[in-house]
Amino acid sequence: MSKTDLRPALSRMLPYTPGEQPPPGKFIKLNTNENPYPPPPSVVSAIRDAASGPLNRYPDPTASLFRRAAAEVLGLPGPDWILAGNGSDEILTILVRGFVGEGQKLRLPYPSYILYRTLADIQGASWEQIPFLDGWHLPAMFGEGGNDLRLVLLPNPNSPSGTVVPAEQIEQLAATLPCPLVVDEAYVDFADFNCLDLVRRHDNILVTRTLSKSYGLAGIRFGFLVAQPSLVAKLSNIKDSYNCDYLATVAATAAIRSQDWLKDVVTKMNATRSRMQSQLTDMGFNVTPSHANFVWCQHPSGRHADLHQFLKKQQVLIRYMDFPDWGDGLRISVGTDQQSDACMMMIERFLQSL
Ligand code: PMP
Repeated sequence: MSKTDLRPALSRMLPYTPGEQPPPGKFIKLNTNENPYPPPPSVVSAIRDAASGPLNRYPDPTASLFRRAAAEVLGLPGPDWILAGNGSDEILTILVRGFVGEGQKLRLPYPSYILYRTLADIQGASWEQIPFLDGWHLPAMFGEGGNDLRLVLLPNPNSPSGTVVPAEQIEQLAATLPCPLVVDEAYVDFADFNCLDLVRRHDNILVTRTLSKSYGLAGIRFGFLVAQPSLVAKLSNIKDSYNCDYLATVAATAAIRSQDWLKDVVTKMNATRSRMQSQLTDMGFNVTPSHANFVWCQHPSGRHADLHQFLKKQQVLIRYMDFPDWGDGLRISVGTDQQSDACMMMIERFLQSL
């Protein structure tokens, strides 16, 4: 072992693929589920105003400006139900750090968000993937577990499928689990229900949210947790002191107050999603009906990897995903109508060449 080796548990970590974030402008970017539209105008003016604020001082460690606004907008009893973070990935990190130690285990459905596994690995903990049943349903055993099971994570809507597990089933699963159930609602604004009410009724149901998707703020990095106040207080003790910077907090606060803007942008993107789904179906794809800002599709030709490469050469980035023991397919983010049409045209061209 050399003087600069990382812990053995970390030696098999792979880098995050930087190719997914090329310099802006060159590609039609439909690979990382960002919002194709700029954030609400009030966000831009809030950042501009804040730029002449106290940048020489550390920010409020609890981002209370945002938490007060979010509690009000989301109809929560108070800001003490919210923990703010530097993106919801940081919130997930705090949760795994808090609950899952060495020799313990977290659970996730399969296929779903790969980061959960990475976070377990970093902790020196283990993870267990429970495959979705046909039709993206969850088996009842997703809600069973022994003492070593310390955290269960469920993206809802799920990525890459865009499918949802109904609130009633989430409530049943949480009742039988021996640990917290985190409902990762990164994409929930594109769906027609959410689990915030469940958090009020059950102390082991937690919800995470992000401003990266529906609010168009992926470049800002802001996410949050909704949980019962006693848990929020405990988790606050193990986060970085100043995890949300001042400008991001101001921007996120303006964004969460822009509910009319949000409704309009979601309506527009969901209409584009419907168009995409029917265009892909017409081209022979098996399309999973989506409740998120992306669509998961598979073509009978199986030429997913080739199609992904072809599109890349045409300056269109989508996501090729290959899940061992499960299969592969394509996840295409919802762009503007124009971006989406350009992507569909290229896909048609590729299929015609087969
Ligand atoms: N959860 C899921 C399911 C996601 O797909 C993503 C985006 N990669 C995140 C959380 C993280 O979002 P962010 O860190 O940008 O808030």
